[in-house]
Amino acid sequence: MVRSGSGVGSVALGWSMHNRAFQVSCVALLALSALHLVVTLVYYLDIHVYTVQMVRRIGGFLAPEPLTTFATHHTAAPNFTAAPNFTAAPAGTSPPRPLQPCPETSPRLVGPLRIEFSQSINLEEVRQSNLLVQGGGRFTPSECTAVQKVAIIIPFRNREEHLKYWLYYLHPILQRQQLDYGVYVINQHGEETFNRAKLLNVGFVEALKEYDYNCFVFSDVDLIPMDDRNIYKCYSQPRHLAVSMDKFGFRLPYRQYFGGISALSREQHERINGFPNDYWGWGGEDDDIYNRIAFKGMGISRPDGVIGKCRMIVHQRDQKNEPNPQRFDRIARTRQTMQSDGLNSLKYKVLQVKKYPLYTLIDVDIGGPGRPPS
Ligand code: BGC
Repeated sequence: MVRSGSGVGSVALGWSMHNRAFQVSCVALLALSALHLVVTLVYYLDIHVYTVQMVRRIGGFLAPEPLTTFATHHTAAPNFTAAPNFTAAPAGTSPPRPLQPCPETSPRLVGPLRIEFSQSINLEEVRQSNLLVQGGGRFTPSECTAVQKVAIIIPFRNREEHLKYWLYYLHPILQRQQLDYGVYVINQHGEETFNRAKLLNVGFVEALKEYDYNCFVFSDVDLIPMDDRNIYKCYSQPRHLAVSMDKFGFRLPYRQYFGGISALSREQHERINGFPNDYWGWGGEDDDIYNRIAFKGMGISRPDGVIGKCRMIVHQRDQKNEPNPQRFDRIARTRQTMQSDGLNSLKYKVLQVKKYPLYTLIDVDIGGPGRPPS
């Protein structure tokens, strides 16, 4: 029995030892698992912190760069809120850096252009293809800071079709020229005889109320340059741009000719007391302007005859713009009249200013011959 009893006891002892070993193994396994968990956690956290740091570092390189200077074409969406002379800074990166001045010659120019007036123009399409132009016909290059601020002044009455061609052709040209510009259409209200030069003076004064323009390009609505290297900006001497018009067989009609399109800096314009206000009807006012420039000791700057080619939209003479019979007399007296007739005697009344997408329209009462504005 004892043997048998001791047999049972040794089996029991064997079980108990086996059980104990099993328990120890379990505890060891548990401890190992816990250790593994801790090590994994520590490792994971470390990796995570490192990864975040790396992503941040790499992110710095991958974040969109501010627009580089002198880009040859616009690929970026327009940034209407950023100050015009600073690059837009991506969120979370370094502050915006000032743009470089635009180069002397824009890299975006293409040279000779095909200009024709056979197809009618849809203004909405013109607008859609000039989305970088802001309301009122304002544009500022995004890739560099334009050296000059140019107001383009167009004397106007009843020439809507011509204006469409002008906007269609000129907006892309002026953008390629990297100009900081605004387009002002000065409409002579009413039926009085047309007065081109007085409307140009009004445009000069009114544009300055909106922006600190330092250059003024005065252009007829029916004249389109045939080469975008004919830059709509100002030079050290007053500039004549319409030097080679199809209407005159692509040459100057006479050496002193200063009609069609011209550019004067603010200083140059003020120095000659602006333009005459008293040329009613067609002709002579551009000769008077030439005289003013010459009497103030300035010369005329011009592009060459190839770059200066322009096309004029063929049209009938406007009503109320008959040739001015007094023009020869007046041109002969510029030296005296320019002291008292010009910016210092300009009187007009603005009736309405309308901001269209591609231009600013200023409707103005300028009176009539011998009649002041009401
Ligand atoms: C007129 C100018 C005109 C030029 C060319 C001259 O006789 O006085 O105003 O621009 O002819 O047509």
